[in-house]
Amino acid sequence: MKKAIYPGSFDPVTYGHLDIAQRAAALFDEVIFVVAVNPTKAPLLSTAERVKLIEIATGDMKNVKVTSSADLIANVARVESAVALIRGLRHVSDFEYEFQMAMMNYHLNPDVSTVLLIPDEKYIHLNSTVIKDIVRLNGDVSRYIPDTVLAALQNKLIS
Ligand code: ADP
Repeated sequence: MKKAIYPGSFDPVTYGHLDIAQRAAALFDEVIFVVAVNPTKAPLLSTAERVKLIEIATGDMKNVKVTSSADLIANVARVESAVALIRGLRHVSDFEYEFQMAMMNYHLNPDVSTVLLIPDEKYIHLNSTVIKDIVRLNGDVSRYIPDTVLAALQNKLIS
């Protein structure tokens, strides 16, 4: 049973994240989204909201689960007995940060391998911050996020 964890902020989850999750789910027996609870970041959506939206979006992915954690990802991997830590790689500019994180995670937990996956080119330019900016100004993001995510964002961003 080979488990992988997919940690991130997911504020909110996008089709880019879901593309990565689908690829990971084809490679591993189980993939667990881990919504990071980070007190130094101020997310728009609460942890519970982010978890719920991912659960809805991954409802048809049989071997994908969702949880949240305030712990070090290296420790989450240990507790879950995960063999891999999934991250998405969009541009060369992502690489430097992901490389640094991978090195630190190898130091903290040598038993979990970092696996960097590249999404479909449709999602290369996509990130959660841009989505929030466009929704705030009523732009069309239907190609990038599910309707349930759009509704949650509109609820927070448009009064
Ligand atoms: P974090 O704050 O941990 O970077 P994010 O939610 O922004 O959290 O991203 C989580 C992971 O998903 C990261 O590895 C990021 O590179 C990846 N990711 C984000 N957006 C996309 C996308 N459009 N396509 C592929 N991977 C993505």
